[in-house]
Amino acid sequence: LLLLDCGEGTQMQLRKSAYRFQRISHIFISHLHGDHYFGLIGLLNTFHLLGRSQQLNLYGIPPLIDLINLQLDLSRTTLAYPLVFHPFETEIPSVIVDDGEITVSTIPLNHRVPTCGFLISEKPEKRKIVKEFLAKAKVPIHYFDRIKSGEDFTNEDGKVFPNREITEDPPLVRSYAYCTDTAYHEPIIPIIKNCNLLYHEATFMEDKAADAHAKFHSTAREAAVIAMKAGAKQLLIGHYSARYKDLDHLLDEARKVFPNTLLGQDGMMIEV
Ligand SMILES: [Zn+2]
Repeated sequence: LLLLDCGEGTQMQLRKSAYRFQRISHIFISHLHGDHYFGLIGLLNTFHLLGRSQQLNLYGIPPLIDLINLQLDLSRTTLAYPLVFHPFETEIPSVIVDDGEITVSTIPLNHRVPTCGFLISEKPEKRKIVKEFLAKAKVPIHYFDRIKSGEDFTNEDGKVFPNREITEDPPLVRSYAYCTDTAYHEPIIPIIKNCNLLYHEATFMEDKAADAHAKFHSTAREAAVIAMKAGAKQLLIGHYSARYKDLDHLLDEARKVFPNTLLGQDGMMIEV
């Protein structure tokens, strides 16, 4: 299980959820505003108290580990499990996890402090060899992997079979882009292109666009424009200003631009 950000109260919500939160193996912190990481030290300490032994991987900007270590040192806590910190830079996108099945990449955002979103992508499977071709062309077994990786096939007589004629596309991969907190920022579009699900913050509505820009946040309409320009399949908005009592207004504003928008709410489960 992967956890993206860990604001105050995250642990309580995890305890209410259907997931065994001890199974969380990776935690990613987008930036060091309190609403995105004030729950982290509590969660790390709970893992310790529960006698966790499995390694926990933590991703954030370099100063994050100083904050954690200071709190652990002052309370003379030595964690019962290995906590491995993986710092990332916020200037250029980079792959920070590659476990063979998925990758996690950073998405540099435009906020008041250094901030990155995260793109979680399944890795594409290799190409599939067309069954009829395999049956008639006498392909040696040692060649299978090379063809699946994109190579052409040359038979004993020197005849070349171009890869695109003897293979099929692998199944489409799924991806989830998590973009919070950020002002409207078009440079993220190529990074999140065609993602299945885009979470994009929508702190304000257009009536408060000036506030949004001053605070490096986005409006619901801007979130929807990013989803549209990126060709996302579905948009999930969230991170609403407390001023909005009826969130349906934010949803309506986004749906005018990008109809397939969902209102992010506590405890929500979404199948990608
Ligand atoms: Zn923030």
